[in-house]
Amino acid sequence: MSSSPGAIRPNLLLKGGYVIDPANGIDRRADVRLSEGRVEAVTHDMPSASGESVLDVSGYYVVPGIIDMHAHVFSTHRRSRLSLDPHVNTFSSGVTTVVDAGTAGWQDFADFRAEVIDRTRIRVLAYVNIIGSGMGGEWEHDVREMRPALAAAMADEHRDVVVGIKTAHYWANRPFDAEHPPWAAVDAAVEAGERCGLPVMVDFYPWLPERPYPDLILEKLRPGDIHTHVFAQQFPVIDEQGKVSDHLFRARERGVIFDLGHGAASFWFRNAVPAIRQGFVPDSISTDLHTGNLNGPVIDMATTMSKMLAMGVPLTEVIARSTVAPAREIGRQGLGTLTPGAEADVAILALDEGEFGFVDCGQTRIASNQQLRCVITVRSGEIVYNPHGLGLLSWQQVAG
Ligand SMILES: [Zn+2]
Repeated sequence: MSSSPGAIRPNLLLKGGYVIDPANGIDRRADVRLSEGRVEAVTHDMPSASGESVLDVSGYYVVPGIIDMHAHVFSTHRRSRLSLDPHVNTFSSGVTTVVDAGTAGWQDFADFRAEVIDRTRIRVLAYVNIIGSGMGGEWEHDVREMRPALAAAMADEHRDVVVGIKTAHYWANRPFDAEHPPWAAVDAAVEAGERCGLPVMVDFYPWLPERPYPDLILEKLRPGDIHTHVFAQQFPVIDEQGKVSDHLFRARERGVIFDLGHGAASFWFRNAVPAIRQGFVPDSISTDLHTGNLNGPVIDMATTMSKMLAMGVPLTEVIARSTVAPAREIGRQGLGTLTPGAEADVAILALDEGEFGFVDCGQTRIASNQQLRCVITVRSGEIVYNPHGLGLLSWQQVAG
């Protein structure tokens, strides 16, 4: 790339954009210098240095590379067809870090690492599933697959890429019996989290009286543990009076984290809109992107973030909950920020005005007059997405 005419060199000055870097309280016009794969400075009116490419990004938002903390990217998984290649609908949405939410269990994790995590241009981090064989089949209901000591050992061995323990899908909507105690999966995941000192991310089904949702978030989960899919149909988020259930606020006070985790069936405007209007905004925004929702209703992070805007969440909050907040939740505070010295992961976003609509998992629609669209993604100082060719010479300038 560096030798071709008009190519954008690694040292970049992003000029004239509107910077939102919630980790540093920056919410104003500023220039951003990226040098040798790192953020060098964020200041007003920076003169360009020799040998650096200047990119006019006026009219756009410059934000830290987006973190999608719930997706499925174990694309070589032998048994499950759930996963996407980690580059699908990620760079094109400003995402520079994608977190796999437990597609691989403690048995498969080394394969996932060797075949996917260590081979990608995008940064891939992951939760280890408490189920040894990972996601995607009946084995997710077998308590013999739940081995806290082995899951914790695998997490410890791959600590540089593992961010926590995942449990999902266990015994959803079936009567419990002696071989399927109601809390088996949650208890095993929390025990594994205790052993390795990492948080747990929980996908949960509260339908039966033996496993009430308030018990999950008020008793079972620890501060820093994450309930994903918070606006799924099955959760008592809104009470009979139309008010946000008190247990959500009490759990948040305890330090339990609520993640959006959109997914194919887990995001309903009828839960989300009243909750957000009453001040209950998810701590982090994530897609749960997989083969079953790629072409709708999820599409990508930019679409999911646009849905938050449509529901009235301010842009700065949407950016914070897609950058600094997930970085904190996954224990990677060096990510999701433009702090000088941070790896140069940057998203440049357009906020288009017009008539748009977005869809939830209940096949309903919300109208909106704004839509976020990624125009450039920079990963570790390198432009990896630039569909409109910003900063390039026109073809006539180089034609012989
Ligand atoms: Zn998921």
